Amino acid sequence: MIYARPPIAAMKGYVPGAQPDPSQKYIKLNSNENPYPPSPRVKEILQRLNYDDLRIYPDPLALELREKLGRLYGFPANQIICGNGSDDILNIIIRTFAQPGEAIGFYEPTFPLYRVQGVIHGVQNLAVPLADPFDRPPAPPAQAKVFFLPNPNSPVGFMYPLSLVRSLARQVQGVFVVDEAYAEFSPENALGLVGEMENVIVTRTVSKSYSLAGVRLGYAIGSEPLIREMFKVKDPFNVNRLTQAVVAAALEDQDYFRKNIAAVAETREWFTAEARTLGYRIIPSQGNFVFPRPPEKGRGVRFFQSLFDRKVLTRFYDEEGLRDGVRMTIGTPEDMRITLQVMKDILKIF
Ligand code: PMP
Repeated sequence: MIYARPPIAAMKGYVPGAQPDPSQKYIKLNSNENPYPPSPRVKEILQRLNYDDLRIYPDPLALELREKLGRLYGFPANQIICGNGSDDILNIIIRTFAQPGEAIGFYEPTFPLYRVQGVIHGVQNLAVPLADPFDRPPAPPAQAKVFFLPNPNSPVGFMYPLSLVRSLARQVQGVFVVDEAYAEFSPENALGLVGEMENVIVTRTVSKSYSLAGVRLGYAIGSEPLIREMFKVKDPFNVNRLTQAVVAAALEDQDYFRKNIAAVAETREWFTAEARTLGYRIIPSQGNFVFPRPPEKGRGVRFFQSLFDRKVLTRFYDEEGLRDGVRMTIGTPEDMRITLQVMKDILKIF
């Protein structure tokens, strides 16, 4: 007897990156986590939190946090909504703006969760393939009620300039979502489009840029009428009390944030240059990860396995356009120095 709805029974579900026990001592480059700890202010706030308060539900509106985000980016709190990671935000977006049976759209390769969330909600997934090197996207399908553009792209890391994002957004009748999970690592972002166009939503996360993947906080910034509708759809207490306090503290430490981002970006540039010297092909990345491909095509699985056997954990995607390489998070300079040495050694056995 199959109890699940047919589309659920038929799908594989989203497969997150492996989270091995830390005692296994992998160089963990598979989930785009930040290699540096969060701001010391996070430690302080954790020590000061009143454990008795945990009896009480968190603020369902996460108002203090939204006001803080608003001051940081120049938006009123009513144009911001918070979620349990940006995963939650993406889910709220699909459920708010696409009726089951209608269409959502995205380019491929892309973040695989859009498709999975689309299947769960019973919408039609319109996947538009991008041809390598991915820099000339065709028009997005106009009938999409929601179109997702991760910018910088995941899992490859390329980034579309703002002028291109603007022209793509104009071609969609529905809601155009710029998923900026990695935008803090890049020089540009699309927040300015929110003021220009009523159908644009920008989504962000503290998972990567603030080293807080473990606390789960994502947010969306958009025009007030869109955000208002999303509030009706979100779970009432979708951002817990600890998360609200921790993220508020982390946001206050902008100096730490800037240094952290600069360190990751610097390592990314150095690593990219070195890996290319070894013969790996890498499209320039604006995220906290790169997508190296060995010189010969079709070697992604062997590349992944060879790295894994030498304790470097990366991510292989068994998908069109992605089978030549692996996605590799930028770790500390030491992590990446060891990884480069491994990449040099394994080139000999390819
Ligand atoms: N969007 C993209 C493009 C991502 O790569 C990720 C991270 N897996 C997310 C959204 C989700 O991030 P989080 O739920 O940790 O905020």
